[in-house]
Amino acid sequence: MKEEAAPPSPDPKEVAPGVIRVQLPINFTGLGHTNMYVLEDDRGAAVLDTGLPGRSAWSAIRRGLGAAGVPIARIHTIMVTHSHPDHFGNAARLMAESGADLLTHTAFQIWWTPDDHLALDEDEMARHAEARAGRMPWHGASQHRSIRARARGWWMRNVGHRMYPTPSPTRRLIDGEELQLGRRTLRAVHTPGHTADHLCWFEPETGVLFSGDHVLPSITPHIAGIGAGPDPLADYVASLDKAVALPGVGLVLPAHGDPIADLAGRAASIKNHHEERLDQLRHIVEASGPMTVENLAEELFPKRSWGFMAESETFAHIEHLRFLGEVDRAEVDGRVVFGAVGH
Ligand SMILES: [Zn+2]
Ligand SMILES: [Zn+2]
Repeated sequence: MKEEAAPPSPDPKEVAPGVIRVQLPINFTGLGHTNMYVLEDDRGAAVLDTGLPGRSAWSAIRRGLGAAGVPIARIHTIMVTHSHPDHFGNAARLMAESGADLLTHTAFQIWWTPDDHLALDEDEMARHAEARAGRMPWHGASQHRSIRARARGWWMRNVGHRMYPTPSPTRRLIDGEELQLGRRTLRAVHTPGHTADHLCWFEPETGVLFSGDHVLPSITPHIAGIGAGPDPLADYVASLDKAVALPGVGLVLPAHGDPIADLAGRAASIKNHHEERLDQLRHIVEASGPMTVENLAEELFPKRSWGFMAESETFAHIEHLRFLGEVDRAEVDGRVVFGAVGH
């Protein structure tokens, strides 16, 4: 079993000086827990990431903080690395019970909330509207999936968000901004790619990097083909280089799995994985004619992984090749197809 898929440990653990890890349960493909990091200071405590919404993660938060000797009322700051539910899930409830501030990147955007604060250009606005409507930019043929996605979107916007209170950031940070927590200084490091709003936190004095989902120990973070900018794979690789270039990173504390000691080594192997995937795609489009994203995904992934996530990841990779000028994109009978340039 990959370490990210391991069930949550019931006991809080000090993983770096003054940094307590509490693991929260999550039942999602390939993931068994989300790490919540707790940093105490003279005013109380800050927490980083808050697990999936729901009863089991909430009781794990209560239990974990209790065992760590940190009453919820003492939490003054919540940092959320990015807009995925296994990270922001309990932030609103924690805010309500503690009055804590919520810090995110400026681009923080939960998909069912209004996005007016983002100042999007026309292309981005169109992409967001498509995603909200449950329509994939690769115009997949699986209508039932699309209808289901639409239904889910409607339900979340009209019903679900009342069951899962949506947190509103009280402070939105840009890259390089610093946060003072007692004697600690943490620096916000914008690392778009996995999502456009992904933020890592770096403590220059100790070399600790809280990496969220940007760098994980054994699985490669999902690169989504929608809602993450025109070329999220290029963004992601640039953000990996950016993390590696931080001066003096010693220990990486990820959102899933155990601490990572060798950031440069891990980043190199993740990059390698994406290079291999791009090479596979180059060969596939070279060998066959123009193909839809679904067909490409079926070539790239084993059958058990077929579906939306595989298609989204494939779309991000084939679009990257298009931006490199290696493949062409066309629309045939309402379907988006990709083929090798000059074929
Ligand atoms: Zn994520
Ligand atoms: Zn995650």
